[in-house]
Amino acid sequence: VFAEEESEPALAVAARATIARFDDAEALERFAAAIDVATYEFENVPIEAAERIAARCALRPSPAALTAAQDRLTEKTFLRGLGLGTAPFAEIEDVAGLAAAARAFGGGILKTRRFGYDGKGQARLVFHAPDQVERAAAEAHAAIGARPAILEGFVPFRRELSVIVARSADGAVACYDPPVNEHRGGVLRRSVVDGAVSPQTVLAAQGVAARIVDALDYVGVMGVELFEAENGALLVNEIAPRVHNSGHWTLEACAVSQFEQHIRAVCGWPLGDPRRHSDAEMLNLIGEEAHDWSRLAAEPGASLHLYGKADARPGRKMGHVTRLLGPAANRIA
Ligand code: AMP
Repeated sequence: VFAEEESEPALAVAARATIARFDDAEALERFAAAIDVATYEFENVPIEAAERIAARCALRPSPAALTAAQDRLTEKTFLRGLGLGTAPFAEIEDVAGLAAAARAFGGGILKTRRFGYDGKGQARLVFHAPDQVERAAAEAHAAIGARPAILEGFVPFRRELSVIVARSADGAVACYDPPVNEHRGGVLRRSVVDGAVSPQTVLAAQGVAARIVDALDYVGVMGVELFEAENGALLVNEIAPRVHNSGHWTLEACAVSQFEQHIRAVCGWPLGDPRRHSDAEMLNLIGEEAHDWSRLAAEPGASLHLYGKADARPGRKMGHVTRLLGPAANRIA
């Protein structure tokens, strides 16, 4: 494991570790020279560091996939280029541009182009009369630190789904059944996979995910977050070039979890069977909720995962619990 801090949870399970900054070229090269294949578990690895690794050993997913997912403008432009639906969006450079886009979309969500996650780097832009637009734009722009951003129009979605998709080095694609995801304050709270999504929607969502990974010649697991609109249309919210929080239930409900699937893909193994044998619910433990761990640990049928993060700050994902809900309903073979 290459990590910037001694406190990184992955170090607890690593056979060997390099602790260094991502701009430490010498440490990166020493690390890459000692391994056969590298992968990453968050998308904010600087692209220069990724390219330095890729010059020395296999890096999967590729730096190109990382680039596509690091910047919301690049990401949405790429998705539109594939003919996929997204929220309406506009590139924002200043308050005047933001006010114009807000007028066109009737408000929206301002998101920094880079380094946003779990609702961070975002501000809602709401106005009730035309003369409020300038002020609302100035406030939202200040709230995200006046950084390069996009404005997205509000999507009145029926629900949120995600597809955990894997693609192997030889181009095989395997998708898990899409969970329905509930967010609170921009943070994933709960994912449920219980057959509530119709087979047609499951196949359409998996088709969207397959288009994306094929277009990127992607190798590894990706999380594709989708909005299901009132009329059933699927819009892509964002892509995550890694295992995804909404796929943690695959540890208990599938023979091969998203984690094993990712390692299989990046190591050049055949992909495993993604079908679920059980319905499942995954509940994130956010901030102080993790203090309730002993009650959850004693609950029959619940699997508790604590990440070993030192500080239970508000909004921070500290762990999760998965409950199996019975044999898989409405499973797509
Ligand atoms: P994000 O960080 O972009 O995944 O946004 C976090 C959450 O905010 C999403 O999962 C949605 O619940 C909500 N959200 C983000 N963008 C939009 C949008 N354009 N319209 C409606 N809700 C949104």
